[in-house]
Amino acid sequence: MIELDVIVVGGGHAGCEAALAAVRLGSMVALVTGNLATIGTMSCNPAVGGVGKGHLVKEVEALGGAMGRIADATGIQFRRLNASRGPAVRATRVQADKARYASAMRTLVGGTPNIVLVEGEVDEILVAGGKVVGIRATDGRMLSAPRVVVTTGTFLSGRIHIGHEQSDGGRAGDPPARGLSASLRALGVTLRRLKTGTPCRLDGRTVDWAALQVQDGDDPLPRFCDDGPMPPLAQRACHLTWTTEATHDLVRRSLHLSPLYGADRTLAGVGPRYCPSIEDKVVRFADKSRHQIFLEPEGLDTFEVYPSGISTSFPLDVQQALVRTIPGLERAEIVRAGYAVEYDAGDPRELGATLEHRAVSGLYLAGQVNGTSGYEEAAIQGLLAGANAALASRGETLVFGRDEAYAGVLVDDITTQGADEPYRMMTSRAEHRLLLREDNADDRMMPRGHALGLVSDERWSLHLTRQRAVAAELDRLASSVLYPNEATQDRLAFLGMSPIRKPTSHAELLRRPEVDYVALRAAFGGIDDPSIAERVETQVKYAGYLLRQDAEVEKLRTMDTLAIDADVIFDDVSGLSNEVREKLARVRPASLGQAGRISGVTPAALSLLMMHLVARGARRTPRKEHG
Ligand code: FAD
Repeated sequence: MIELDVIVVGGGHAGCEAALAAVRLGSMVALVTGNLATIGTMSCNPAVGGVGKGHLVKEVEALGGAMGRIADATGIQFRRLNASRGPAVRATRVQADKARYASAMRTLVGGTPNIVLVEGEVDEILVAGGKVVGIRATDGRMLSAPRVVVTTGTFLSGRIHIGHEQSDGGRAGDPPARGLSASLRALGVTLRRLKTGTPCRLDGRTVDWAALQVQDGDDPLPRFCDDGPMPPLAQRACHLTWTTEATHDLVRRSLHLSPLYGADRTLAGVGPRYCPSIEDKVVRFADKSRHQIFLEPEGLDTFEVYPSGISTSFPLDVQQALVRTIPGLERAEIVRAGYAVEYDAGDPRELGATLEHRAVSGLYLAGQVNGTSGYEEAAIQGLLAGANAALASRGETLVFGRDEAYAGVLVDDITTQGADEPYRMMTSRAEHRLLLREDNADDRMMPRGHALGLVSDERWSLHLTRQRAVAAELDRLASSVLYPNEATQDRLAFLGMSPIRKPTSHAELLRRPEVDYVALRAAFGGIDDPSIAERVETQVKYAGYLLRQDAEVEKLRTMDTLAIDADVIFDDVSGLSNEVREKLARVRPASLGQAGRISGVTPAALSLLMMHLVARGARRTPRKEHG
């Protein structure tokens, strides 16, 4: 058997990125998954990106990952969300052809040299002397490697609920992973139950499309990777409808049939706050008279439609009646029932910033198994865990700070605060969100990715070319000056801009609230590439804010980089309450900054800890080794 460096368990969004990243760093990888035919499957909605999530996809792309490229290549609707709002919250969302997305991911992973695909259910992580040595599958096969990345999604002891009927399953049509939970527990990994749900799928031929509001994609198509091929597929519209009072009445009358609300509450796991079921929406937001539903096509060769916004675990007859209370769906037929799935997830506070378990050397966890929700959150964790597993043999790590990347925010949030309910990325989670825009993900992350070997020379050189184009345009805008003569004032008046009173550079003009880059280019010329134009506009218009955020980051870094070495004993810090001591011991923060983000660690406790660290001669960690 080939000598393996890394074994990845699971072929979902985390597992694929983990395997691909480890291989880019020179590892020999085995990807072991329950069913090779379901690699890259989108278990829920057929879309990638959105606010916060699109930022993560751009970061996956900036580190040489696959998710953004595959979404671009298989996209059937492309949108730029919040296009008229501030640059921090603008985000790309791509509706993908579900079957083509999974097929493209399978082809990529299967065709990548140095990834060995193995179909099988892993039920034991093999450990010797506190270190991972391999895995065992239920059919008795054993594979050896010093590092294992577990990306089991919703499959660990998965149980599916439709009404009060239950069955074992990791998602509809797939069996659960039954044995691995016990093996992880035996190794000291804490597991708890979480849940998530998905709506029914509709037969598009039974939807009254004419009655619905149309939502087309954008033109030009916004994409995740600027240098990728133009999307080749035909584009499709989404449609919009709303629940009605009749829907809400039916939900209220049927609550006793829901495993979430029935007397026996058979579904007790904690669900996603930001993607609630229709049952939860009607109960929790009782004052709302309607909820929005997007009807999203699942692909070009299927009539299946995903009704986003009515995830449910009601019995099928209630789901059917519920759908029929919605305008445009009065005749709609359900082709697949909605359901909820309950599964075992680890406690990410037991992981370090590299996503390695602190108690088991060589064991990494990534994706939904860490209590997150969503393809994008899974993909970035998979990429980081796979990269760190590969880098460990070189004694290197790949860790980003909260001020560098949403990847850093996500990992710091879950490893510090835990994920008591499925964690979803939102821009409000980042303190410095103007610095963490989609448009500058490459600037923020690609240099490190390229230096380590995660990003190819070809991608890197395209990035440098784009960076040079942005810099040249910024220079041109700063040095091109308009003089307040008649010709200039006429041109400004023609474009509806107020006159200038003194010599004014193009950059100064662009800083005016009423002027955008497109208008400036129309008047005085400029570059056509919309993604370069957006970067230039943001850097000019928000120059002041960006400088201020940079200064804030610098201040916080001082605290963040005060290292808490592995030999610091929190019981020795005088004055700390037992509760704070316990929390610090459980999370084992790597820095004073991380300690400050643990809930319940007060500013007073933090200054006691700082005094203790300073007294024992604390050092500041260089950013790259942080964590
Ligand atoms: P998955 O995509 O689940 O992949 C896990 C992989 O691991 C699978 O290939 C599986 O076969 C394999 N595997 C598991 N155990 C083993 C084992 N022991 N041995 C070998 N292979 C194994 N996300 C949202 O953002 N919003 C939602 O509303 C939402 N709703 C969802 C509803 C449902 C019903 C489901 C199932 C998922 C939902 N998701 C939702 C979540 C989304 O599907 C996941 O976040 C995403 O797929 C997680 O990616 P992952 O790689 O962690 O796991």
